[in-house]
Amino acid sequence: MATFANVEVHTIITEEHNKRSSRQLNIISMASSCWIELTSNDVSDRAGGVLAVQPIGAVEQHGPHLPLGTDSIVAESVATEAIARFSGSALLLPTIAVALSREHLWAPGTISLSPQTLLSLLDDVGQSLQSAGVNRLVFLNGHGGNSAILRVICRELRVQYGLMTFLAHPQLPLDQGGVAQDDTEMGFAVHAGRVETSIMLYLRPELVVLDRAARHVPEWLGDFEHIGFGKEVTFGWSSQDFGATGVIGDPTLATTDQGKLAFESAVNRFVEVLSEASIFAFPPSALQ
Ligand SMILES: [Zn+2]
Repeated sequence: MATFANVEVHTIITEEHNKRSSRQLNIISMASSCWIELTSNDVSDRAGGVLAVQPIGAVEQHGPHLPLGTDSIVAESVATEAIARFSGSALLLPTIAVALSREHLWAPGTISLSPQTLLSLLDDVGQSLQSAGVNRLVFLNGHGGNSAILRVICRELRVQYGLMTFLAHPQLPLDQGGVAQDDTEMGFAVHAGRVETSIMLYLRPELVVLDRAARHVPEWLGDFEHIGFGKEVTFGWSSQDFGATGVIGDPTLATTDQGKLAFESAVNRFVEVLSEASIFAFPPSALQ
C-alpha cells in the first residue's frame, strides 16, 4: 500500500515535473521569438540573419461596437501567429499601439501622435535596430492612417541606416489598393466595417458590442469619377465627415466565420511575406 502510494506520489511528482518542463519549454520557445523576453546577449547572437517584425496599430474610435485598440489587437495577433508558424528566424518587437489617428481625434478615447512624433519614434526604432546589428525590419500595419508615414520611414531607414525595410498589412486597406467584396459596402468600407468587425468577432468576441453596429456607407462617393477611396485623386478626411458614428462600412454583415477566414488568410499571407523578406536582396551589382 505504502509502495503503491510512493509510486503514485512519484508519478504525480514526475507529471508535475514534466508539466513544469514543458511550461519552461513553452516559455523558452515563446521567448525565442519575442524581443522583450530576450536578453541583450540573445539579440546579439541572433541579430545577423533575423527579421525584426514591428506590429503597429492605433488607439482610435471604431464606432460604437468595436474597441479602441482594434487595429493594434489585429496587427499583434496576426504577427504573433505568423511568427509562430514561420520556419525562419523572426523576432516580434513590442507593438506600437498608439500611432497616427488624427482623423479620429474628435471622438473620446482616441489617442494620436502627431506625424512628426511618429516619424521620430520610428526613426529611433530603426536606429536602435541598426545598433543591435539587425538589418531587416518588417512593419505589419493594422491602421490605414499610418501607411503614408510608414512608406516614408521605410525609405528613410533604408537610406539613413542601410536597413532592408518592408511594409505589410493584415488587410490591404480598400483605399490603398485592397480588393473589396461585391456587397452592400460598395467598396467604401474603410473603417469598422464588415471585415474588421468579423476579425474582432473571431479574435475577441467579448469586446464586440454587435447590437450597436449600424451600416454607414458613403454611397454619395460613387457620384465622383476621379476623387474617392482608391481612385486617382485622394482627399483629406476626418471620420466625422462621414457621419456621427465614425463607422465607414457595414458592420452588420460581420460574422465569426468571415473573421476566421480573414484572419487565417492574413496569417498565411504574412508567413509568405516573411519568407520573401528574409531572402529579398538587391542585385550585388547595385552596390558597385
Ligand atoms: Zn481599424
